[in-house]
Amino acid sequence: QDVVNKIAAGEIIVAPVHALKELIENAVDAGSTALEVVVKDGGLKLLQITDNGHGIDKEDMPILCERFTTSKLKAFEDLTSIGTYGFRGEALASISHIAHLSVTTRTKESSCAWRAQYADGKLVSSKPGQSAEPKPIAGRPGTQISVEDLFYNVQSRRRAFRSSSEEYAKILDMVGRYAVHCSGVAFSCKKHGDHSSGISVPVSASIVDRIRQIHGSTVANELVNFKVEDVRWGFKCEGWVSNANYSSKRTSLLLFINHRSVDSAAIKKSVEQTYSLFLPKGAHPFVYLSLDIDPQRVDVNVHPTKREVHFLNEDEVIAIICDEIRNSLGKVDT
Ligand code: ADP
Ligand code: MG
Repeated sequence: QDVVNKIAAGEIIVAPVHALKELIENAVDAGSTALEVVVKDGGLKLLQITDNGHGIDKEDMPILCERFTTSKLKAFEDLTSIGTYGFRGEALASISHIAHLSVTTRTKESSCAWRAQYADGKLVSSKPGQSAEPKPIAGRPGTQISVEDLFYNVQSRRRAFRSSSEEYAKILDMVGRYAVHCSGVAFSCKKHGDHSSGISVPVSASIVDRIRQIHGSTVANELVNFKVEDVRWGFKCEGWVSNANYSSKRTSLLLFINHRSVDSAAIKKSVEQTYSLFLPKGAHPFVYLSLDIDPQRVDVNVHPTKREVHFLNEDEVIAIICDEIRNSLGKVDT
């Protein structure tokens, strides 16, 4: 059973950035307004994320890393219809099978923080002979999750990573996506012991400020904002997209569906086609789209490793969005 769990976990999380994405989503789900990420060795040595959200009850700590443990019951009811939200209650469980996981957390009601370590879904003691029960320590409300030595027990996976800077680049890209999307949340991401590099976005930053911080002024000065909604196809979309004055060497597409960062080859292709009629050859746009789609219309049959999402009437929805983009191309909004 343990081997099965380990293999399953290694399939869901194939790179440090996949674990980090789950941890970011948990922190955001917990109502955090500040989120700090610290990374060692491209996330293979350490991935640490500290939030100021509602924390975890001490009583819930023993089962936290068991499979299908989730406090998101409302979301669970929607499980049959939500593909975007991916698997439920499996992220921490999976991580505990392929890394050393420790959790320090404090709710507003608690007079202290509690710290626990996990392996293979269960509480474990930090030193041999000691109890595995959570220990009280000083700490502020919120949660800190540390993932150490990712894939320490999956040699084949470990060997696949040649460059930690490549993994760090993926991590920065992912944190950057959520930092643009989550207005009202401060984000920071840095390498352990290195305070200069990385991402730092204050809580008060507007969407344009966020894009400027992460993608630069050149694009932030050429953005156009649109909103579009269609009841027939059950969706709403807000976009911040570059106009015809902006070009880059490659397309930047930040796509969120129901507040999860996802990929859609169909959207990417249509967006690129739309711009290609207006931009010179070899020039590419910046496109940030936040789509809310009726969960019933989002594809359920998405494997957890795949970020690729499908939804009903994809062609019609994409056509409406690309019309908006076309209308935006001649404008300057900022
Ligand atoms: P899911 O997010 O699908 O519920 P996870 O395995 O990602 O499953 O997390 C399990 C549970 O742990 C969550 O439902 C939540 O109750 C709790 N949890 C995880 N991370 C945090 C966090 N940063 N703050 C508060 N609670 C958390
Ligand atoms: Mg989760």
